[in-house]
Amino acid sequence: MIYNIALLRGDGIGPEIVDSAVRVLEAVGEKYGHTFNFTPYLIGGAAIDAVGVPLPQETVDGCLASDSVLLGAVGGPRWDTLPGNLRPEKALLGIRAALGLFTNLRPARLYPALSGDCPLRPDLVRDGFDIMIVRELTGGIYFGDRGYREGKYGEEAYDTECYSRFEIERIARVAFETARKRRGRVGSVDKANVLETSRLWRRTVHEVRDALYPDVELRDVLVDNAAMQLVRDPAQFDVIVTSNMFGDILSDEASQITGSIGMLPSASLGEGTRGMYEPIHGSAPDIAGRGIANPIATILSAAMMLRYSFGLTREADAIERAVDRALDDGLRTADIAGASGAGTLGTREMTDAVMERL
Ligand code: NAD
Repeated sequence: MIYNIALLRGDGIGPEIVDSAVRVLEAVGEKYGHTFNFTPYLIGGAAIDAVGVPLPQETVDGCLASDSVLLGAVGGPRWDTLPGNLRPEKALLGIRAALGLFTNLRPARLYPALSGDCPLRPDLVRDGFDIMIVRELTGGIYFGDRGYREGKYGEEAYDTECYSRFEIERIARVAFETARKRRGRVGSVDKANVLETSRLWRRTVHEVRDALYPDVELRDVLVDNAAMQLVRDPAQFDVIVTSNMFGDILSDEASQITGSIGMLPSASLGEGTRGMYEPIHGSAPDIAGRGIANPIATILSAAMMLRYSFGLTREADAIERAVDRALDDGLRTADIAGASGAGTLGTREMTDAVMERL
C-alpha cells in the first residue's frame, strides 16, 4: 500500500524529531512492504518567517489531500510578541478545525524502565499506570466568543464556553469505544457543580452510556478532584474523557507524572481515518539544534498513525516494542537519563537504536 503523509516540521526541535520519525517509518515500510510518501508543508514560526502567516492555505490544502499528518511542534520566543492571530500556536487551532479533528487521544503510561523518573512516591505507583485521556478538541472555551469591552471597572476581557449536545455525544462515543478496547472504565471530568456546559456534558455522557454502552463503567469526577486524584492514585483511571480546556490541563499533568515529557505521543482524530499525530511536548527552544532532543514521543506518534489512521496494527506494535526494548536495554536521551546524565544518546543515536530493534 502507498500512504501519503503530510509533514509539518514546525519550529525548534520540530524538524529534528519529525525526521527521526520519518526514518523509523521508512524502515517499517521497507520491512513490511509499504510505501510512505512524505510531503513537507510550512507551519508555525517557520511559516510566519517564510510567508507571513502561521498557517498558509497551501498547508491546509496539502493536509486535506494527504492520508495523514505528522506534526513536530510550533512556537518559540522569536514569535512570542506577535499579536494573537499571528502567533505560531494559532496554526494548531486552525489546522485542527480545518481537518475536523474533534478528538485528542493522549496516552499517559508509566514505563517500568523509567519508573525512577516518576515524580510520585514509589508506593503510589507500585503497579504503574496506563491512562488514556480523550480530550474534546474543537469546542469549548478555546473556540467560543471572546473579546474586550468596557465594563464596570474599565477595560475587561472575556472568553465564553459553549458545548452542543452533538459535540458531547460525539466525544463520549469515542471515549466509550476506547474503553471497550481497554479496561472498560470511563471517568468523565466536568465542573457540573458550577458550570452549565458541564451539566449538559454530564447529562449527555450518561445518556450515551445508558443507550449504547451499558457494559462500560462510568464515573463522574469534578475537575478539581480529578487533578488531585491523578497525583494521589493514578492507577484508578483507565479512560478519562473531558472538555477542551480541562483536557489540555489534565493531560499535561498526567504526562508529567510519567516523568518524561519527551516520551508521550498524541493523536488527533476526526470522523474519517485521517488524523494528525504529534508529540505532546512543545518546540523546546532551549535545546533546539543541539541534536539532543528525545525523538521517542514523535516516533510513538508515528506508531499511533499506523494504528489509528492506517489500521497497521502489527507495524505499530513493532515500533512500540522496539521503543520498549531500547529502554529496557538502558538506552537514554538526556531528558530521561536521571541525575548523572552520563553516556546518554543524542536524537540520531536513539533513533538508530529504535530502528535496530524493529
Ligand atoms: P516544551 O514542551 O517545548 O519544553 C518544556 C521543557 O521540556 C524544556 O526544558 C524542553 O527542553 C523539554 N523538552 C520538551 N520536549 C523535549 C524532548 N523531546 N526531548 C528533551 N527535552 C524536551 O514547552 P515550553 O518550553 O513551555 O514551550 C516552548 C514553545 O513550544 C512555546 O513557544 C510554546 O508555545 C510551544 N508549544 C508548542 C506545542 C505544540 O506545538 N503542540 C505544545 C506546547 C508548547
